[in-house]
Amino acid sequence: MRFLTLLILSFCSIAPFLPIYSQDAIVISPDKQLSLELSIEGGKLRYTVNYKGKVMLEKSPLGLQTNEGDFSSGLSFIEKSENKTSRVYTQDKIKRSQINYEANTLKYTFQNTEKRQMSILFQVSNNDIAFRYELPAWGDRMACVVEKEATGYRFPSYATAFLSYMMDPMKGFARTSPSYESGYQSDVPVKDTKSNTGYVFPGLFRIGENGWILLSETGVRSLYCSSHLSAYNDGIYTVEYPNPGENNGFGSSGAQLSLPGATPWRTITVGENLKPIVETTIPFDVVEPLYEPSKNYKYGKGTWSWIVWQDASMNWDDQVKYIDLASEMGYEYILIDALWDDNIGYDKMKKLIEYANSKNVDVFLWYNSNGSFNDAPQGPRNKMNTSIARKKEMKWLKEAGVKGLKVDFFGGDKQETMRLYEDILSDANDYGLMIIFHGCTLPRGWERMYPNYVGSEAVLASEMLIFSEDVRKNESFFASLHPFIRNAVGSMEFGGVLLNKYLNKGNKEGQERLTTDAFQLATAILFQNPVQMFALTPNNMTDVPKFEIDFMRKVPTTWDETILIDGYPGKYAVLARRHADKWYIAGVNAQKEPLQLKLNVPMLKGKKVQLIGDDKNRNTYTKDINIDNKGITEITLQPNGGFVLNDL
Ligand code: CA
Repeated sequence: MRFLTLLILSFCSIAPFLPIYSQDAIVISPDKQLSLELSIEGGKLRYTVNYKGKVMLEKSPLGLQTNEGDFSSGLSFIEKSENKTSRVYTQDKIKRSQINYEANTLKYTFQNTEKRQMSILFQVSNNDIAFRYELPAWGDRMACVVEKEATGYRFPSYATAFLSYMMDPMKGFARTSPSYESGYQSDVPVKDTKSNTGYVFPGLFRIGENGWILLSETGVRSLYCSSHLSAYNDGIYTVEYPNPGENNGFGSSGAQLSLPGATPWRTITVGENLKPIVETTIPFDVVEPLYEPSKNYKYGKGTWSWIVWQDASMNWDDQVKYIDLASEMGYEYILIDALWDDNIGYDKMKKLIEYANSKNVDVFLWYNSNGSFNDAPQGPRNKMNTSIARKKEMKWLKEAGVKGLKVDFFGGDKQETMRLYEDILSDANDYGLMIIFHGCTLPRGWERMYPNYVGSEAVLASEMLIFSEDVRKNESFFASLHPFIRNAVGSMEFGGVLLNKYLNKGNKEGQERLTTDAFQLATAILFQNPVQMFALTPNNMTDVPKFEIDFMRKVPTTWDETILIDGYPGKYAVLARRHADKWYIAGVNAQKEPLQLKLNVPMLKGKKVQLIGDDKNRNTYTKDINIDNKGITEITLQPNGGFVLNDL
């Protein structure tokens, strides 16, 4: 009887809107602005996304193909259930420290022609959609391989894209690609995005006047492969798994899953402007720490000789100079890069670490992740690729007092490689070591998942300013993209702030830096990574104005809050970040003309602050200015220039 009453009640509440057994479903954000609608048409599962009543994604496909059956066609509806989820958490190494996540959820279950079931769990918060496929065990079948994914994104035809190419496998330096180090197409019509290798996550899209979308994925670990966006095909980008040629052709390009199991989260960040894109925490909202930290990891600033002084600096004397530089700057770390095993050696390295410690500097050491998947020749090699060698090495590292590793030259995005990333992180935590990855994939929620993870390159980083004239000429263009794209979803180990006029040891001729000093200082704030290896050189202590060095001494590397103040990807970017009670506001200009900005900075209203900017001749200066009581200030940014405003 009670059951019957409930049934009648629920029927009454739903009946005016939808037939009770409807296969159609909708999930709406807590603030009611963002909605995702689902339906099955002709046996295919489709979804659309609207924001403030405007179309953001047109009817787009969902589904998986597994070696246990096709779940992309011949589908029929089973059931759906709605709920809410929320989570309050703190995180000390991302763009913000206190996060309050609230979402409405929908679990939608369907079956294929073989009557095997699968569900998709959708979580819709105010500006983010996250969803994942949840696979049950099918009778006694408790393992499967996901071979292909049908998940796709159909943008309105007038949308424009900001995308970075997926690199071909086994190309580039020592056959080390793909490593997420290619350029960008910026603001091009989606139909003109023609990379046949597809595009890396994250991808940014402007939906005309309707707003913006950032696509990515999160929660990828040893249990799945990383994915990327396919080439634009028939109006759609789909989620594509790694190229079989990656990792020297070794290992499956699909995903091997234990059942019950789930895919990583596909994420769609949506806004009518760029604020929700820059400020999103969705990569971290839907994942959990996978283990306890073995100690309290300490973040901070470091120096590294390799970036400007290159391979030749891998010797005792030059490393001592960079330890002394770190010490004079009050930095916590030095990163001693490739070739130290041969050129300094293990015994002398122990003494070098003792010297660094005597100057209050701790040490990160470089490692080759190989192994067997590419030709990267730099040592130490064969120390990180097997559990036995790795633990032996890490035992030595712990005894020698090393605090972190930079591991380079990974083999791509296959599950095989995801297992290596996770094994390195997990073992390193057992030995109290932090981990930086280079020559690598995008981190996908790893700041939260792995307590000793610090950051990843996965960007055309500072090294390419030195190696590539084209990248040097486009430095400000790329810098103005990162806050909206790459760095919006994960820590970015860029290795920047180059204050040499020429990007080499002599600093007299050669690779001229085309951006101003203020631009370089601004990137210390614009680019977020909890440990920043800055590209300062010992000569900068005497050939750079003192106020610039003073700024580099005090700039924080961890943040409690991040706010987009102004900007347009590819043109300019202005961000505010708070560390404890101090605000830092920084901007760069990638345009050919000076840029006059009227900035709304309420966090500094009525305050006297330090401005670092560029004059008409693009010389960097500093002065104290007063921000009015409305919190509005006018700033002029020179071409390839920048500025910093900070609390005194
Ligand atoms: Ca690299």
